[in-house]
Amino acid sequence: MADTYTQLVNSGMGRSLAKKLGLPQPAVLRRYQPGQPLVTGPVVVLGNTPGADKLAAELLSWDLDIRRHAVPAEKLGAIILVLDELEHPADLEKPVLAAAGSLRDLRAGGRVITLSRPASEASAPEAAAARQGVDGFLRSLAKELRAGATGNGVVLADGTTATSSSALGALRFFLSGRSAFVDGQFLTVSSEDGSLPADPERPLAGKVAVVTGAARGIGAQIARTLHRDGATLVLVDIPAAGDQLAAVANEVRATALQLDITGADAGQRIIDHAVQRHGRLDIVVHNAGVTRDKLLVNMDQARWNPVININIAAQLRINEALLASEHFRQSPRIVSVASTSGIAGNRGQTNYAASKGGVMGMVRATAPLLAARGGTINAVAPGFIETEMTARIPFAVREVARRLNSLQQGGLPSDVAETIAFLASDAAGGINGEVLRVCGQNLVGA
Ligand code: NAD
Repeated sequence: MADTYTQLVNSGMGRSLAKKLGLPQPAVLRRYQPGQPLVTGPVVVLGNTPGADKLAAELLSWDLDIRRHAVPAEKLGAIILVLDELEHPADLEKPVLAAAGSLRDLRAGGRVITLSRPASEASAPEAAAARQGVDGFLRSLAKELRAGATGNGVVLADGTTATSSSALGALRFFLSGRSAFVDGQFLTVSSEDGSLPADPERPLAGKVAVVTGAARGIGAQIARTLHRDGATLVLVDIPAAGDQLAAVANEVRATALQLDITGADAGQRIIDHAVQRHGRLDIVVHNAGVTRDKLLVNMDQARWNPVININIAAQLRINEALLASEHFRQSPRIVSVASTSGIAGNRGQTNYAASKGGVMGMVRATAPLLAARGGTINAVAPGFIETEMTARIPFAVREVARRLNSLQQGGLPSDVAETIAFLASDAAGGINGEVLRVCGQNLVGA
């Protein structure tokens, strides 16, 4: 599963050889480690609005070295562009060119983050143009950044500000190494709900979380990350994976529940287990998923049905049980694992892409139902992640797939897990019905 090419071009000889030959030079990404600073180096907050002033003042309390103007040649940890009052595309010039002047000073693994308003909520065409312009600007900038730096945006819906809890939560996520493989993406904050954790290193303390498909791969890593962040866990997988499931459960002091999620009573069994063993249920992560790849001309029931049943129908049925339960009413959180295949499509994956597109549709339509209970439901859409699933792809196809993103490498299961942990936390309480891609800004398709 190791990406030996990335290791090679980050060694002394390999680095100079790759440079000489003009080969891709994927950087070693800055990933979160408890105890490390949020960002290294000064953070410049650009923008001349009251929102920018308030944000800069708020960020001072995070122990960051906040500047309102960059000092030339000083290495920067992050550039934050507050674009919350754009009225016309001409308003972009000043903040954007101020950011341009600082880009050369951005450190390896640095961050550029925009805060803007949704184009869909603009009343005037000029304002909508400016707001939508941020989209194209940021996505292009993210493609220009190098050395593991990323660019992402927080979109502030009506009624929210740059200092709303979830705006600060999203900002913290994008600044930190938790978002290492999230690049060129926007996350909308739709309400004032949410609260920042008392201890940023244990944001899930006191929560009981269920992870499906936790015996291996991304699911096992989600379990490790949620455990590290303070959650008590119930790990679910099929009986055939019982030994592996028990091993992961032991590692993270979880209880294991052997269960096929397609069973009619799966939702109720999950609720009963969580409540009987741990007294409550706060978070459900729908991670279990399968592929049965085949071109559509060769598709049959044996390949179509299990993919739809496991990847989406089971989630729908479990959610129905969760929404009906009196035990899932205190700021409940659901996070579903989709896939970029469900957005851009993928040859040989009509069944899988239909199921993952289905996950995203389900998440958007279920969001109001969760909101009515003070909860949220969101999806993450991973791109190429280094797992057993992708290790089985033939070498040449795999090598192309893993390089075709702005970070020129595959993500790690921990990158998906960190994003899920953030969306499951109280700090994301105002983020609902969103799909966040963890794909290094995949260059293929949409
Ligand atoms: P994996 O095959 O390694 O693990 C999936 C787990 O789900 C397995 O332990 C399996 O036993 C379990 N599972 C399958 N059917 C089940 C059922 N009916 N009931 C309970 N458990 C069941 O896969 P992975 O690579 O870790 O992927 C995890 C999730 O991430 C999946 O939803 C997958 O579609 C998605 N994803 C993966 C990638 C990638 O690059 N690996 C990319 C995009 C999305």
